[in-house]
Amino acid sequence: MDTLWTPWRMAYILGDKPEGCVLCDKPRDDRDRDNLLLHRGRHCYVIMNLFPYNPGHLLIAPYKHTASFEQLDQETIVEATTLLSASMGILRAAVSPHGFNVGMNIGKVAGAGIDEHVHMHIVPRWGGDTNFMPVISDTRVVPEALASTYDHLLPFFEKLES
Ligand SMILES: [Zn+2]
Repeated sequence: MDTLWTPWRMAYILGDKPEGCVLCDKPRDDRDRDNLLLHRGRHCYVIMNLFPYNPGHLLIAPYKHTASFEQLDQETIVEATTLLSASMGILRAAVSPHGFNVGMNIGKVAGAGIDEHVHMHIVPRWGGDTNFMPVISDTRVVPEALASTYDHLLPFFEKLES
């Protein structure tokens, strides 16, 4: 995935990191649209990655602040994988990807940007998508692109049972 052209990720790499844990803070806030939070389950939630590798790059995270998947209880693991499957189905219906990258980066050494709070990535892929996204030199365009993707995906997630 390193080959994808995602200049706005520099804003993340170079930007100030917020204090505390962003994956704890987002679901505690009630501004789901501002936070790009798409679905709240009982143990886990689905949120768009603010610094996506591709449009529709989603994260599934437990509410519980824990560093690794095997530290989650059985119910949370079941819900996380159920939401993974549901999210793939939604992305397939909503944005017609040709494939997916799905996975977890556990620990800084494995490339985790947020290594204290486990989360799964779902990245929809298209043939030739290393240049699928328009070249955006002005990072202010990106929030608009994220908001329009959010508005496109939200009706699908609203049909999921929580
Ligand atoms: Zn956390």
